[in-house]
Amino acid sequence: MTTELISCIPHLCYHMVEIIFLGSGGSIPTEKRRHPAILLRHEAYNILFDAGESVQMRIEPYGINRKMVIFCSHRHPDHTIGLVGLLLRFSLLGRQKPLDIFGPKDLIPWVRMAQEAIHIGTSFPTTVYGVENGFVWEQDEMKVRAFEVSHRGLALGFAFSYQRTRGKFLPEKARALGVPKGALWGKLASGETIFLDDGRRISPHDVTLSPGHGLKIVYSGDTRPCDNTRTAAKDADILIHEAMYTEEHGTLAEERGHSTAKQAAEIAAMSNVRLLILTHYSPRYYDGASILEEAREVFPTTILARDMMTVRLLYDGTLEVRQPDGHLRSFSAFRG
Ligand SMILES: [Zn+2]
Ligand SMILES: [Zn+2]
Repeated sequence: MTTELISCIPHLCYHMVEIIFLGSGGSIPTEKRRHPAILLRHEAYNILFDAGESVQMRIEPYGINRKMVIFCSHRHPDHTIGLVGLLLRFSLLGRQKPLDIFGPKDLIPWVRMAQEAIHIGTSFPTTVYGVENGFVWEQDEMKVRAFEVSHRGLALGFAFSYQRTRGKFLPEKARALGVPKGALWGKLASGETIFLDDGRRISPHDVTLSPGHGLKIVYSGDTRPCDNTRTAAKDADILIHEAMYTEEHGTLAEERGHSTAKQAAEIAAMSNVRLLILTHYSPRYYDGASILEEAREVFPTTILARDMMTVRLLYDGTLEVRQPDGHLRSFSAFRG
């Protein structure tokens, strides 16, 4: 189980991945909690999970022409209604880079029909891919795997993973070993062993940090508690799971294909995740206190998603959660 620490994170700490909850609301958005949209940022990429109604405005500060890919969990409007607006806004603001959209196969006609019905052409190429279980996207040491979940109709969850193949290059170590700056530094940084004029062999390990542990972030989409989520979330750093209801409304959860907070927490406990973030809870629970309380009885390392809450996974494995009011909380680097 993760040990919680309250500490200051050095400002210069290099962060690996940042998650911004652009929308954490239920099916009916409120002033404070908009439709689901979760933005994961890593280096040059914006990776968006679901595109609820307010996504077009909330994503704009994070870049309209960055490399980007979208994963839609399912076709229900609270997860997709913002997609067409997003395409329109990006076009009006002159996006040029291609945009790939992944989701269950019934998403393809939905997007095409919506575009045709309101005559949206985009200023950039868009491709919609219908996907099933398995790895669906891979780029620069990042991978996304889709897995079927149990909702009403076709629905997917997604597991994002990242594993560095090489650690950070350390110029001071190269200098200390007498490696001249230039092409030899480049070779070492890209993983090649080199030989100096005096015959010494310098390996990349001599001048780089270890690649560090990989990381995994799993998003359930809308679902009943299911084995596929449990398997996908095994040992994940973060599980973002829907928790539409408390146990008091367990029958509704069953009828409507959703999870209770307790059920989401049980999945987190069985999967040995570091941090559970509950999202998409019904507005009937106001600030979500009862949702959080129910989950923490089963899995104490649980927090609630809030709109514009940011989670960073730092290079040393620390999880840092920043609320919109600036309140900062961090979780220790590794499992205890
Ligand atoms: Zn939903
Ligand atoms: Zn749904």
